[in-house]
Amino acid sequence: MKRVGITGGIGCGKSTVVAEFQKLGILSFVADQVAADYYKDSQFLDEIRRLFGDSVFDNSGTIDKRALANIVFGDRQALAKLNNLVHPKVMQDFDVFCREHDDQPYVLFESAILYDYSFDRFMHSVIGVYLDLDERIRRLLLRDKASEAEIRARIANQLPAETILQRADYIVLNYEGNPRARQVAYIDKQLRQ
Ligand code: ADP
Repeated sequence: MKRVGITGGIGCGKSTVVAEFQKLGILSFVADQVAADYYKDSQFLDEIRRLFGDSVFDNSGTIDKRALANIVFGDRQALAKLNNLVHPKVMQDFDVFCREHDDQPYVLFESAILYDYSFDRFMHSVIGVYLDLDERIRRLLLRDKASEAEIRARIANQLPAETILQRADYIVLNYEGNPRARQVAYIDKQLRQ
């Protein structure tokens, strides 16, 4: 079974494109969501406490994600520590997911940061979802409760969309009016061969 990455910066339309693949019966492992769910797991939180101390927890013992983000986004070594905890766990869970669905022609691994952390080395091929910056910002202002400055800061934390355009094996151009279903049907046909 093929493992196919799907990536694109925030607001490019990854989730929307994945939904199009799902209509064709294709399953998706949403890596960013899987990783976010670890923060509900007490064993994982123990590891976080061991690595970053009590300051990333509030008085009731709940994780303070803002405090953790402040530490890791200002300190490359701290970010590497967090990534070394999270990323292997994500890949282990993806392995389990693949084993559970090994009757499928391929499965998707959806991640905004696939190339940032070289997850492509575990993939048969990668689909990039592309949209220009202005349109991404316009859509994110509609989708998220965030200011334009916050959205720009999030985008600046990720690889430029143009890098994804250069590196991906397949591209979906997610402009309004561009037939997404046709692009997805074409890629699906290639991947089933
Ligand atoms: P991502 O998962 O890459 O962050 P989403 O799939 O959530 O992006 O898309 C961002 C926003 O843009 C969502 O509100 C979505 O409904 C909207 N959107 C996605 N594709 C299109 C499109 N082709 N035309 C108009 N709006 C779109």
